[in-house]
Amino acid sequence: MARTHISGFPRIGAQRELKFAQESFWRGESDDAYLRDVGKALRARHWALQRDAKLDFVAVGDFAWYDPMLNLTALLGALPERFGFEPATLSLAQYHELARGNKAQPAMEMTKWFDTNYHYLVPELGPDTTFNGGVDWFFDEVDEALALDFAVKPALIGPITYLWLSKSRVAGFDRLSLLPGLVIRYIRILDQLKARGIEWVQLDEPALCLDLEPDWLEAFAAVYNVLGDGGVKVLLATYFDTAADHAPLVAGLPVHGVHIDLVRAPQQLDAWRSALPADKVLSVGVIDGRNVWRADLGEIAASLESVDAERGDRLWIAPSCSLAHVPVTLASEKKLDAELRSWLAFATEKLDEIGTLALALRDPAAAEPALAAADAALDSRRSSGGVFNVLVQRRVATITDAMADRKSPFADRSRVQRHALKLPLLPTTTIGSFPQTPAIRQARAAYRRGELRALDYLERMRAETASVVRKQEELGLDVLVHGEVERNDMVEHFADKLWGYAFTESGWVQNYGSQCVKPPIIYGDVYRPEPMIVDNACHAQSLTDRLVKGVLTGPVTLLEWSFVRDDQPRSTTALQLALVIRDEVMDLEKAGIRIIQIDEPAFREGLPLRQADWPAYLDWATRAFRIAAGGVSDATQIHTHMCYSEFNDILPSIAALDADVITIETSRSSMELLDGFGEFAYPNGIGPGVYDTHSSRVPSVEAMQRLLERACEVIPAERLWVNPDCGLKTRGWPETEAALTNMVQAAKALRQKLVASEVTSDLTNN
Ligand code: GLN
Ligand code: ZN
Repeated sequence: MARTHISGFPRIGAQRELKFAQESFWRGESDDAYLRDVGKALRARHWALQRDAKLDFVAVGDFAWYDPMLNLTALLGALPERFGFEPATLSLAQYHELARGNKAQPAMEMTKWFDTNYHYLVPELGPDTTFNGGVDWFFDEVDEALALDFAVKPALIGPITYLWLSKSRVAGFDRLSLLPGLVIRYIRILDQLKARGIEWVQLDEPALCLDLEPDWLEAFAAVYNVLGDGGVKVLLATYFDTAADHAPLVAGLPVHGVHIDLVRAPQQLDAWRSALPADKVLSVGVIDGRNVWRADLGEIAASLESVDAERGDRLWIAPSCSLAHVPVTLASEKKLDAELRSWLAFATEKLDEIGTLALALRDPAAAEPALAAADAALDSRRSSGGVFNVLVQRRVATITDAMADRKSPFADRSRVQRHALKLPLLPTTTIGSFPQTPAIRQARAAYRRGELRALDYLERMRAETASVVRKQEELGLDVLVHGEVERNDMVEHFADKLWGYAFTESGWVQNYGSQCVKPPIIYGDVYRPEPMIVDNACHAQSLTDRLVKGVLTGPVTLLEWSFVRDDQPRSTTALQLALVIRDEVMDLEKAGIRIIQIDEPAFREGLPLRQADWPAYLDWATRAFRIAAGGVSDATQIHTHMCYSEFNDILPSIAALDADVITIETSRSSMELLDGFGEFAYPNGIGPGVYDTHSSRVPSVEAMQRLLERACEVIPAERLWVNPDCGLKTRGWPETEAALTNMVQAAKALRQKLVASEVTSDLTNN
């Protein structure tokens, strides 16, 4: 009989209880004990949900105060030395200082977990790192679950993925040299689990789905030869992509089972079935842990019948990955359209789906009602009038290659634009948003609650825009923005105005720490019934003689930061979004807006885990952007903006977007990023961010001028722009004004210097 389990459950709580407890703890309004109690109650509740759904195990170890990687770092005792904390006695307050920084030390670095929008804390390892053990929280949680009589399957991130995701501050340091010490620590951990009578432990190794170099694969084999043989059965968990090329290697290791992601990589089932001996567990991730759609349970059950016959209780059924990437429960959604709601499954509902699948294999008749309900939901989704929009289908069918091309090449366009826009050398601008004061947020909330009339709201937003425009004029910026005052989120603001998008009330997903996002759901063909920001942009333009740049969110980012429909390829949905943005761009141009920025901060995030799959993604993502931007005349200048990602390995695709200008975040790496752009000889305009907008520090004129001078060495001054790293919405006004004043001065100073040297070189040349 097949068995059932999950890799992990969302830890934040249906009402974001963990977030609120954490934040009150940070503010000093509650103590350690209170935070611990909230965590304990959440864990017990989540385990009970798994048991109620009749799963054979409950997942333990998926809980973390701030982040599971940081919890593992605390368990291993590998704290960054610079904090000076004692691993074994780490307090909750100190733990949070590692995550958030303190007076003496900046926070540990945070970066994206594989291709998700979740951010983990990067372990800081070096030659002196030891793994002598730290806090016992993990074991306490195991004991807690055992005491409540649950069937406990602890889960931890495995040593290879842990090391792979870590960073060293010492140049040239080989992280693999730390492996022996790390493995000894894992052996101790497994011993402690064994002493508690634990039968199975899950070790997550999503790194196996990346293009691992040979020395890492060798290390992997060596590690699991040891860990697989220690007395606790090891379930090796892979997810987010295929691990099939390692099936023969894994089959020869003493691990007792493997979990594979059959949602992302269904094609790997056969390879594993034939490679993995029948006495080993094959855990199939068949329910999508990354998306919110109800599964086709009948079809999945049918596809598992023969595996079930061959493996019996060594077939395990599970979601593809941890459920932490989807909202907690549909039960909190009171306003969702009933039809749409019937198509969805959040984490709690996915537990039932897993239960139903196991039942369908064991006792098909008993599972019949649940299977029929799943079928009915799918039928309703397939035939719903809300999903298909004939206008969109027709538009997509008429897309031509020419629509992805600007009228003339960049060199010609830039000549036309120089003439038309008359911008100075090193033009100054910002990325779009300006500080969102409490007054703005309150007005938005009051309007949403129906307490502020539409006209009053409009007037307040317009007054705010007017003041932002005036400030920009005073600061002496060359290209102004309207300030994004009415946007609370760069995706939601647009999604809200489009057909085919739906919104949840409580569909929160953890982004990092206590920070949650509520991604909208794309359920149908995306259609723009009317212009979205033309009014606002024109209003701002009417207030000033300077150029106002219209700022839009791009098709790839609208896609990446939403839950996307799974009944058509993502690339098709991206095309629909591209048309929506293209129409908005054309309307802006028609209305007299001459510079238009299409933000794509999530462009890099969509990259598949395997490099072999990059070209296909980059191809459709680039095309979507080009279609969005391609309709305008040569005189209209298209900008794009990207931030907080590695760009150097996708530079050809960034260039292929053919934006007239790209503004990118660079200041944190003191322009290192720019070297990549220089080496690659990036052909178009570029605005490397000259200061970090995620910090309240105000850099001096000299500091910014130095960065700009460095930029001039790499990119000709005629193609350089001057701007901050990213939007300013989380900053306060005083620091924003101070920083922009300095930025404008730095640009002016360098401008003068460049003009002067040109005059001298003209003189000497003559
Ligand atoms: N235009 C957006 C802003 O200024 C861009 C935000 C982003 O890059 N994430 O806020
Ligand atoms: Zn940005």
